[in-house]
Amino acid sequence: MPVIQNVRAMEILDSRGRPTVKAFCTLASGACAAVSVPSGASTGAAEALELRDGDPQRYRGLGCRRAVANINGEINLALAGREAASQAELDALLIALDGTNNKSRLGANALLAVSLAYARASAAELNLPLYRHFAEILGESPNRLPRPTINLFSGGKHAGGQVEIQDVLLVPASARTIDEALSMTFSVYQCAAELISRRYGMRVLRADEGGLAPPAESSAALLDDAVSAIECAGLIPGRDVCLAVDVASSQFYREREGCYDFDGTQQSSAEMIERLSAWMRDYPIVSLEDGLAENEWEHWPQLLAAANDRALIVGDDFLCTNPHRIRRAIETRAASALLLKVNQIGTLTEAAESCRLTRAAGWHVTVSARSGETEDDWLADLAVGWSGNQIKIGSITQSERLAKYNRLLEIESETGWPMQAWPAK
Ligand code: PGA
Ligand code: ZN
Repeated sequence: MPVIQNVRAMEILDSRGRPTVKAFCTLASGACAAVSVPSGASTGAAEALELRDGDPQRYRGLGCRRAVANINGEINLALAGREAASQAELDALLIALDGTNNKSRLGANALLAVSLAYARASAAELNLPLYRHFAEILGESPNRLPRPTINLFSGGKHAGGQVEIQDVLLVPASARTIDEALSMTFSVYQCAAELISRRYGMRVLRADEGGLAPPAESSAALLDDAVSAIECAGLIPGRDVCLAVDVASSQFYREREGCYDFDGTQQSSAEMIERLSAWMRDYPIVSLEDGLAENEWEHWPQLLAAANDRALIVGDDFLCTNPHRIRRAIETRAASALLLKVNQIGTLTEAAESCRLTRAAGWHVTVSARSGETEDDWLADLAVGWSGNQIKIGSITQSERLAKYNRLLEIESETGWPMQAWPAK
């Protein structure tokens, strides 16, 4: 059983240049590992709390020195010299030590960094590739690689809000390997960059996750541009490459009025469902994320019914990788896929419970990065180890995204596993 010698942490910067937490875990065996945690921008209200310093003089309040101090002080004091029989035991210790229901005392960024660093150090001690160790934590026997959904166009909070929807993603449907998926995506991305420079007369500007961010006049115009780019790359939309959309609608929902500020008009929930249904009919969309706002519990089942199995109905801010919310969504038939972000809930064990619940309900799981990422690549191992149906990392630019794609390529060459069959039935 791994005995923890110590844990420690430092503040580093993420892909937006904002502080985040990097934690180190050393085991008595000498095995040692480090992990960096990501950070979101279009966050869900039900997410576990990311602890920030709040000092306006330093990084506009975004510093993570308190979270780091919690690891170096209280958490290390509780863990050093302790034997943790399993990841579940370690995470239970962390949760009890924090003592709040949203990890607001010690910070979800502090807890997750330690939870993951312990997992990586344990994998090193066991001499296992990290994806194998993640698989054992879940009780999974993976033999497939997740199909990437790759950001082509960005809007919303990741791109200055020029259109409301946050991501238009490519789903390389006919690709048989990660390698093929990436090279197909590269062709479409290049065509899209040329197309927007012709259509909008602008040079390439990239949003937080590396997506292109043209000043399109409407959200649907971005979908049209995506279809054109696929065709211009010599690929067939709906056969070779499909689309996924992250509407991220909580970000433009007006709670008080109960309506959506969308494409210059105000839409009721019913009108939103109608609009999204038309998109699922008119475009090769196979995955629709956060089509409705996070607290619209009564309308999500209508959206799922309207999708009629043409597209996955994915909950991100809606579910927040939170087992309570996922249970409720399963019972009320409110979605058909989970966007799994470990830092929304704060420990590996709780994220594993979310993954198990959705699997048992027959849902898909899309393992996802955050808009603020680091060069750490653990996400690729997690998506493989937990047999994620999809992985959502961002675009195929910028090293914080490419680190994960490159790790997928490495796992592919090591295992030779085929990709998850999807969207083909
Ligand atoms: P976030 O966005 O990391 O900024 O929350 C990612 C997403 O909405 O999928
Ligand atoms: Zn999202």
